[in-house]
Amino acid sequence: MPHRITLIPGDGIGPELAEATTRVLDATGIAFEWEVQEAGEATIAKEGTPLPDRVLESIRRNKIALKGPITTPVGSGFRSVNVALRQALKLYANLRPARSMVGVQSRYEDVDLVIVRENTEDLYAGIEHMVGPDAAESIKIITRAASERIARFAFEYAVANGRRKVTAVHKANIMKLSDGLFLESCRTVAAGYEGRIEFEDRIVDNMCMQLVQKPDLYDVLVLPNLYGDIVSDLCAGLVGGLGVAPGANIGEDGAVFEPVHGSAPKYAGLNKANPTALILSGALMLRHMGFVEAGERVEGAVRAVVAEGRRTTYDLGGDAGTSQFADAVIEALGSAAPASARA
Ligand code: NAD
Repeated sequence: MPHRITLIPGDGIGPELAEATTRVLDATGIAFEWEVQEAGEATIAKEGTPLPDRVLESIRRNKIALKGPITTPVGSGFRSVNVALRQALKLYANLRPARSMVGVQSRYEDVDLVIVRENTEDLYAGIEHMVGPDAAESIKIITRAASERIARFAFEYAVANGRRKVTAVHKANIMKLSDGLFLESCRTVAAGYEGRIEFEDRIVDNMCMQLVQKPDLYDVLVLPNLYGDIVSDLCAGLVGGLGVAPGANIGEDGAVFEPVHGSAPKYAGLNKANPTALILSGALMLRHMGFVEAGERVEGAVRAVVAEGRRTTYDLGGDAGTSQFADAVIEALGSAAPASARA
């Protein structure tokens, strides 16, 4: 039986990146059935919404989706499809690995971080109001249940992926109740992993400075929503930016794998954009499905092509198109050593 995956090609450069990525994933030899679900700009005109119910139903049915970027129309009244998806499917964990790649220029050569961001509450719960004409209030929600759930996710990820340490990031020195509860929840969960996974905590401002100066001191980071949003971009910057940053949103009822970057409309249809972030999101998807070796092979093949530098896209200094880069990755798949075996 093929593995049925919901494929949301998305807007702008999304469809060509999705085409490149599904070709690479098919080349692993695993049998996939891609259930294509349009969402985004095109469906606004046809169906009156960027996120028709059939898309959510498809993900609920298949449990796994691979998603290209979707344009958020400015000022149209439609909410971000990405935020709506996370809420509708209760995708509580945002997972973003940030690992240096040979061939991608950045400040450090040996960054290997994994950011685990709580995706459902904190200041992003969307509870805000004006207090009179000249003041606004946003409410920060932190619950024990959601904090322990994300901490458990971070520790389980660490165990499953051979990581050594989890660092909880917070501002509990100032927000003693809300961030205090987050930290306390992380400590409670950490106690169950004592002797297996190291645990420590850092105040978020200090964490940002240390990540910029000494990223090699850290491993898996677990953060509430707002700090996670900001620190994960900082970490993407440490390894060469958004074009190569994969991501996943994982919940109890499903998981959506997508690149961090947006739909880059100016490059749409030009066979120019870099599919690395979506292909690496596909590698995360393979690991999540239990195809750990295939995930490592795909990541290893991408790393080999980028390191060699002959067939990279414009943003990495090459002149290959999206599909030529995918061809090179497929060729390398045949001979690629697993990513974890690479320096
Ligand atoms: P963007 O990431 O789309 O593009 C910014 C710039 O980064 C591009 O102009 C391009 O130079 C470069 N870039 C991005 N992806 C690239 C790739 N794969 N290969 C090569 N270069 C790449 O950010 P933006 O311009 O702020 O957003 C455009 C649209 O995307 C907006 O509507 C935004 O809401 C949406 N967006 C969607 C998602 C998502 O679906 N998850 C995420 C971010 C932004």
